[in-house]
Amino acid sequence: MLDKPLIEDLDGCMVFGNTTNLIYLEIPSAISPGTISPPGTYVHTAYGAPADAATADIESDFKNMLAEFETNFPGALARANILVKAKHIGQAPGMHRWAGYGMPVNTPVSGLYNVGDGCIQPGTIGTEGAAASAREAVDQILKRTAAVKR
Ligand SMILES: Cc1cc2nc3c(=O)[nH]c(=O)nc-3n(C[C@H](O)[C@H](O)[C@H](O)COP(=O)(O)OP(=O)(O)OC[C@H]3O[C@@H](n4cnc5c(N)ncnc54)[C@H](O)[C@@H]3O)c2cc1C
Repeated sequence: MLDKPLIEDLDGCMVFGNTTNLIYLEIPSAISPGTISPPGTYVHTAYGAPADAATADIESDFKNMLAEFETNFPGALARANILVKAKHIGQAPGMHRWAGYGMPVNTPVSGLYNVGDGCIQPGTIGTEGAAASAREAVDQILKRTAAVKR
């Protein structure tokens, strides 16, 4: 909880591209003004995940997530009134595969590619990982097409 939003008019979700563990920031008080928190206060939600769920050290990943938050928003943690620090361990129904267990984008069938959060590269997750897998598939298709033209 902060007395002003970290980003003005952020009524969506900010996904970070410069982090390993910190994934996104939302400001629910900006998404639903006047319903989430008392006037003059802004609830923020930051979400992170291990880069590799198979070898996760939740405590150090959590610490790094906070450090990455501090790097992106210097001084914000000290000003914040932290209401909940929670970690989830167990099944991950929000995604097709755990982070760190992604399938490859290419398949043994020539010209058939898989994309989506089941094919995420290490260090990505969720929607960001799905987009990154599509970019990887495009890169592979372009390389293949260039090789065929030669
Ligand atoms: C409650 C919840 C909250 C989440 N919050 C976040 C978040 O805050 N940030 C984040 O990054 N990620 C979040 N995620 C994860 C994110 O939604 C997924 O990682 C992302 O949507 C995966 O995209 P995708 O295209 O791989 O798969 P999907 O979005 O699952 O798309 C697959 C599509 O294929 C369709 N389909 C399946 N089988 C067939 C078939 N046989 N024929 C035709 N169509 C078919 C499905 O209907 C679906 O539309 C959340 C997920 C959930 C459930």
